[in-house]
Amino acid sequence: MNKKIWLSSPHMGQAEKGFVEEAFTTNWIAPLGPNVDGFEQDLCEYNKIGHAAALSSGTAAIHLALMILGVQKDDIVICQSFTFSASANPILYLGATPVFIDSEADTWNMDPLYLEEAIKKYTSLGKKPKAIIPVHLYGMPAKLEAIIAIAKQYEIPVIEDAAEALGSTWHGKACGSFGDFGVLSFNGNKIITTSGGGALLSENSDWIKQARFLATQARDTAPHYQHSHIGYNYRMSNVLAGIGRGQMMVLNDRISQRRANYAFYEKAVKDIPGISFQPELSDSFSNRWLTSILVDPKKTNGVTREDIRLHLEKDNIESRPLWKPMHMQPVFTGAPYFGEKVSQNLFEHGLCLPSGSNLLIADLERVVLKMKEIL
Ligand SMILES: *Cc1c(COP(=O)(O)O)cnc(C)c1O
Repeated sequence: MNKKIWLSSPHMGQAEKGFVEEAFTTNWIAPLGPNVDGFEQDLCEYNKIGHAAALSSGTAAIHLALMILGVQKDDIVICQSFTFSASANPILYLGATPVFIDSEADTWNMDPLYLEEAIKKYTSLGKKPKAIIPVHLYGMPAKLEAIIAIAKQYEIPVIEDAAEALGSTWHGKACGSFGDFGVLSFNGNKIITTSGGGALLSENSDWIKQARFLATQARDTAPHYQHSHIGYNYRMSNVLAGIGRGQMMVLNDRISQRRANYAFYEKAVKDIPGISFQPELSDSFSNRWLTSILVDPKKTNGVTREDIRLHLEKDNIESRPLWKPMHMQPVFTGAPYFGEKVSQNLFEHGLCLPSGSNLLIADLERVVLKMKEIL
């Protein structure tokens, strides 16, 4: 069997071990500690944002953001449909109702037209949405200008799900720094990883203070354990934050590498009829977390994305269909949806190719060879 080629596997640098070892030497294994502070500072500097809270996951970050915005049972929260379920699940944790929005064909992210339609409808029903969750899928910035303008016009806060987009920018400004809150993830397959983790970003220091409070079991100031709020155990540990500090030192290299993967694939298969890529608009810079293609069987003599996926799998190469939209998921049956079939179409015809920053040229060549074989 050929060597396994993963979709996106962790890629450690030189410094991570040092930070983790320091946590061991100083016995700072408990949650919180100097690595957590250092990692948060790194995130603030890198994203040019005022405040950051390092957390146990990106999902926890979205949950806390919704809580801090006061989202409650039966509230409406607008969310991009074409995403990973973690963007939407925390809406349900709070008993609120997700309203899903289709993508537009350029960036594959939230369509501002349907966003506004949904806001108008629910506002006219006296149920003004409490938050908007746009996503920068595969690292590609959403149409931020339009989305932020609509959010401002209707005075609805934005939780920017930048879990896949650390290092992506729009007009040179970091994804995750546009919304009232920004969300990052350091899960194992993301562009950098702490093995598991996330962060909540904001310019609002009170909100980040509140996030830290809720994330550490909501302890009131008292010598004993005193609580006036329901708390959560959502903080990042000092050991994992050490990995994060090391990973921040190589983040820009990882982005270059992922962008080089994209360039390699694009050059290799762009002349094959029926294959297209997620385009990068002129004002955007994508970290190209995952290189994704669309396959049009009408132009490939009937070869579908599933044919390609299975052919790669036979050669021990992992690829994956694009996210299945939330409005098509059994768990969200009946949730309101605004849009047509853009995201459904992306799901049916799209494939994420192996995109790790640790792939070798020989690996990329093998993927391309296999793709060309079946195409
Ligand atoms: C990974 C991811 C999340 C969740 O992050 P975790 O750290 O795995 O909880 C949320 N949204 C999107 C779009 C993601 O890709």
